[in-house]
Amino acid sequence: MQEFDIAVIGAGPGGYVAAIYGARQGAKVALIEKDKEGGTCLNRGCIPTKALIRTTEVYKTMQEARRYACSAENIDFDYARMVSRKDRIVTGLVRGVQSLLTNNGVTTFKGLGQFVDAHTIKIQQTDSQTQIRAKHIIAATGSQPTELPIPGAEESFVMGSEEALAMTELPKSLAIIGAGVIGMEFASMFARLGVEVTLLEYLDDVLALLDRDLTQDVERNLRMAGVKLHTGSQVTAMEKTAEGGALIHFKNVASGEPMPSIEAEKVLMAVGRRPFSKGLGAEEIGIELQARSGAIAVNDLMQTNIRHIYAIGDVTGGMMLAHVASHQAIVAVNNIMGREHKMDYKAVPNAIFTDPEIASVGLSEQEAHDNEIPIRVGRFPFAGNGKALALGNSRGFVKLIAHKKTNVLLGGAVVGPGATDLISEITLAVRHGLTADDVTDTIHAHPTLPEAIMEAAWDVGSGALHLAD
Ligand code: NAD
Repeated sequence: MQEFDIAVIGAGPGGYVAAIYGARQGAKVALIEKDKEGGTCLNRGCIPTKALIRTTEVYKTMQEARRYACSAENIDFDYARMVSRKDRIVTGLVRGVQSLLTNNGVTTFKGLGQFVDAHTIKIQQTDSQTQIRAKHIIAATGSQPTELPIPGAEESFVMGSEEALAMTELPKSLAIIGAGVIGMEFASMFARLGVEVTLLEYLDDVLALLDRDLTQDVERNLRMAGVKLHTGSQVTAMEKTAEGGALIHFKNVASGEPMPSIEAEKVLMAVGRRPFSKGLGAEEIGIELQARSGAIAVNDLMQTNIRHIYAIGDVTGGMMLAHVASHQAIVAVNNIMGREHKMDYKAVPNAIFTDPEIASVGLSEQEAHDNEIPIRVGRFPFAGNGKALALGNSRGFVKLIAHKKTNVLLGGAVVGPGATDLISEITLAVRHGLTADDVTDTIHAHPTLPEAIMEAAWDVGSGALHLAD
């Protein structure tokens, strides 16, 4: 039986990063994956959506050609080719991950990994099986979409985000259940392509975890694109129409009153994801799972209750984000290699690829208010930023949240052009306890979008320089 220092189960952005990093630290590493390297994020999530969203941005810009003193006629898109472009990008990246693994000397096993005991893993292929042993094991098996337990949820018109990304033709109309991150990204994307979108959200607000001022622009853009938005609405049942589409019944959450049912060709279910630990055999060998979610319980070193077995990424519940999984991978491997490293969630960026983009990190204004933390808020609108005006994209703003007494940056957010890239500067500041003065004391290139961050930092103190009081 082959023996390894580290065996990693699952090759998503948690597992493959753990494998590469572990190998670079000198460990003999095995990586077990039943499907393609890159996991949900690369194959069926983050990357494919961004590829499709990029085409919708180009399409929108072409439609707005006159704003840039250009003219364009007969502007159109070919959805099947959009999908091929997306698939080419994904295939290229998967190959890239495969060669990184090979070049770093990681041994990859294709098949379903299952614990036999605390040091042995069985790898089940279609017609054979292998067993390997490892001193340390990292479970990184990800998550799967949650399904609503309502009548009609099994109908063929219902899709998860993965099926929605695999479509080669656009539906005429689409109802999206859940206005969280997936629901809002898909609504922005499909609305730009002319699909009649209806969003149904249980809570009173879209993207409910964010401060309200961050979501106003995206709501406005969705409504302008014709999206019908029903918040405070609970979907109760769905049935098939004579044409094979969906008739969706829902009620008002507050009053309990049924609302007029709506029709759509397809339904996208985007009501969250849950940890995927089924079939792993974790519980059978005594690994502790969280009772409600089935997530693998871990400490801040990413260890399970069996100390040489670690778990990282979505399977541990919590913040189901690719970049959190990758960071947990580094933390787990460092601990395995004998360098104590604790996971710190103080500065986890959120990057939401709606129109406009929204990004946030650290403490929100609402959290500061709820926890009675004294704060000073600095803001700067992109309308005062030369680069944003030149780009023709000056809606939105930067917001910084600093401690009132120390000016230490505790959180921040960006709505508007480049928001998902700009958040990195604020993340670095929050992670390392920098003050607003540290940001204003840093020269920012001109003319660039990050100057809006510097201006918001000035606004925390004496006021933004490029804004009248
Ligand atoms: P989510 O938790 O972000 O949103 C689910 C939404 O569904 C919530 O707003 C919830 O109130 C609503 N909902 C639940 N039950 C409902 C019901 N019966 N009727 C109507 N609405 C209902 O989950 P998601 O959008 O499915 O995303 C899944 C995971 O993937 C999340 O952890 C998310 O962070 C991650 N993700 C992240 C990104 C990104 O960071 N850009 C993109 C996609 C997915």
